[in-house]
Amino acid sequence: MTMSDKLSDPRLFRQHAYIDGKWTHGSGGRDEAVTNPATGEVLGHIPWLEADQVRSAVDAAEKAFSHWRALRADERCERLLAWYDLLQANREDLAILMTLEQGKPLPDSRGEVEYGASFIRWFAEEGKRTRGETIPSHIPNAALGTIKEPVGVAVLITPWNFPLAMITRKAAAAMAAGCPVVVKPASETPFSALALAELAERAGIPAGVFNVVLGEAAEISKTLCSDERVMALSFTGSTRVGRLLLEQCANTVKRVSLELGGNAPFIVGPDVDPKEAAYAAVAAKFQTVGQDCLAADRILVHESIHDEFVAHFAERMAALTVGNGMESEVDLGPLIHSQAVDKASKIVDDAISKGATLVAGDQSQAPGPNFFMPVLLTGVTPKMKVWSEETFAPVAGITAYSDDDQVIEMANDTEYGLAAYVYTHDIRRIWKLLRALEYGMVSVNSVKMTGPPIPFGGVKQSGLGREGGSSGIDEYLETKYYCLGSLGSVSGS
Ligand code: NAP
Repeated sequence: MTMSDKLSDPRLFRQHAYIDGKWTHGSGGRDEAVTNPATGEVLGHIPWLEADQVRSAVDAAEKAFSHWRALRADERCERLLAWYDLLQANREDLAILMTLEQGKPLPDSRGEVEYGASFIRWFAEEGKRTRGETIPSHIPNAALGTIKEPVGVAVLITPWNFPLAMITRKAAAAMAAGCPVVVKPASETPFSALALAELAERAGIPAGVFNVVLGEAAEISKTLCSDERVMALSFTGSTRVGRLLLEQCANTVKRVSLELGGNAPFIVGPDVDPKEAAYAAVAAKFQTVGQDCLAADRILVHESIHDEFVAHFAERMAALTVGNGMESEVDLGPLIHSQAVDKASKIVDDAISKGATLVAGDQSQAPGPNFFMPVLLTGVTPKMKVWSEETFAPVAGITAYSDDDQVIEMANDTEYGLAAYVYTHDIRRIWKLLRALEYGMVSVNSVKMTGPPIPFGGVKQSGLGREGGSSGIDEYLETKYYCLGSLGSVSGS
């Protein structure tokens, strides 16, 4: 059964780049296979574009810019809402595509389609509110103010863990602001991006406004980052690549937003129900099989409830089912590729060799080469990789602490600063931790924290800028100041 046979609408499965409203082959003739991480089955092929083809996507975007920016905000809103409606109408196909190329369980893929679509609706409306300001004048007989203008062509480079939502969170903001985009999706998960392009075309988004380029990431980024016509770059991915892109954008002084890695602490106070907190920690750790920038990577539990917490965590974790995301009742799909499995094994071995206790996690039970059974380690210390690295795997590490000052120090002991979780009902502790934690986002007594209205983003090495909320669109807007002199006296006297 081919990929197309699995979809109600086979035209959503595209195996070409999308430039200037046209489906494009690679001029060099190189194609790369895309595989299903759960089965190893080849799903399809994508072209590896040559540099001149990548530049042609910028040509198309630049050409589209004058028309797209000139539309009224409510006209852009209508087209984006048509795109949103088409995502909703095709959500089951989009979810199937996502599960096949990414591996996450089908219900999680449906959730991501919903989540990804919600950014389009949010920014479609937000585009109508990009207001400038009036400035009380300090210059006689002058009117001062600002207007907001789209920055221009934006390049969006996205990861494989959220193949659809990481694109829409950027693209909808840029497009609502009046900026055409050139998207470079992760090579592991291009088909969600290409289905988005197909639906953008059907929604009446003009040619050149939404382009998708495919190929060798380092070459594409060099071509795009050195192009003076590209005014903004937004990247979600690893801190290593984020640093590289920031450097590459320096020569042409682009606007850069970076959503990078995380190493989230999950702090459990002494006053909470250990079972409730343990179940929440399991949810926060194992979402997307731990391949999530918000995954609870360091679980810090007050010593007075540590043992009870560990017991509940282990019991909840044991109930998780690992398998092919297309099958029902599966909680955890595969890791994205075999290198991720190797990395997870090394992290576990490193922790055990440095004194951690393996409470659970028997890899002989894994249902296939890319699968990794959930692991629970206790006695984790800062000298272990499971503490200092973003594991991006279903490996949970628990550490006991004795007081608030100690846990604040532990939680901040990382180069990352994306998200932190706090479980406690003590209002003084909540406030103290909220202020002291060096993170862009702090979630108290809730695993769920994201969605269109919030400013998503990190501090320290977790990134620059914010996505979503009312600030997300600012990444694609320039503030133009004006001074209208010689207006005469306002009072007329
Ligand atoms: P990655 O290796 O940095 O790749 C992300 C994107 O960058 C992919 O499109 C990739 O293309 C491209 N890329 C790779 N090497 C490049 C290079 N030398 N120059 C330019 N582009 C390059 O990250 P990943 O492994 O896909 O994703 C996991 C990371 O993303 C984690 O660190 C996670 O925390 C982070 N993340 C952050 C957020 C957030 O909102 N803060 C959200 C999700 C994920 P190819 O696939 O073609 O190599």
